[in-house]
Amino acid sequence: MIRSKLWQKFIVLILLLALFATGLFSQPALARNSEFLNKDKLELILKGVISLYMLNRLNSLRREDNPPEHRDRVPGKSPSLAGQIIVLDPGHGGSDPGAIGAGGLKEKDVNLDIAKRVYRLLKENTGAQVYLTRDTDRFISLAERSSQANKLGADLFISIHINAAENGRERGIETYAYHNASRENWALAWYLQEQLVKELGLLDRGIKAGNFHVIRETRMNSVLLEIGFISDAREEALLAKTSTRERAAQAIYAGIINYYQNI
Ligand SMILES: [Zn+2]
Repeated sequence: MIRSKLWQKFIVLILLLALFATGLFSQPALARNSEFLNKDKLELILKGVISLYMLNRLNSLRREDNPPEHRDRVPGKSPSLAGQIIVLDPGHGGSDPGAIGAGGLKEKDVNLDIAKRVYRLLKENTGAQVYLTRDTDRFISLAERSSQANKLGADLFISIHINAAENGRERGIETYAYHNASRENWALAWYLQEQLVKELGLLDRGIKAGNFHVIRETRMNSVLLEIGFISDAREEALLAKTSTRERAAQAIYAGIINYYQNI
């Protein structure tokens, strides 16, 4: 749908350029009887108007990369998810704690809690088949995670992580897709990032290309979420709260629904 709209605009642009190039506008009928505007002046004005129109067209094409009309959509039950296979991947686990905050919060625990909450929301509200790569505090290799999803023939793979920075000064949310991911895959990243930032009110670090095993080796649309920095004292305190994790889960759920409603 988005594609056909883009093509329509592209065709309008090409037609305008063609008209412009063939000089159809260079001798307008108006100019013949005008006492105040000679042909050259009128041509200049027309060129200006057409240029502005084309600029406007180009801008509206660019705006479609970030469709604003979906910003405030509230997701409900979505029958369009029936039969979809969604794999949720809580990062780290067991002997691998992931990043650890100054206050002692372990990334693996936050990841698992958020993933379980998303699992429940999807199970209760959609017809999707939902899987967790781990549902307890146990170690699982990266290869096991991606092969689980590949064997299931999953449609979506969402890896859940919390970020950390050595300097302790970074904060905010970012979402990764593999660098050569499809347009649809980038849309998934965009909708998830949008909802997480909106729901948690943390800094928007944007959607980024990443070479992480789980998004590189999975054969379906896949993303890796970094929901805040455990190395930031304020964000660690937030992530320690059940209410923040529930809001993060609601945001991921809403992002998935928005994605399915708009692709
Ligand atoms: Zn991690």
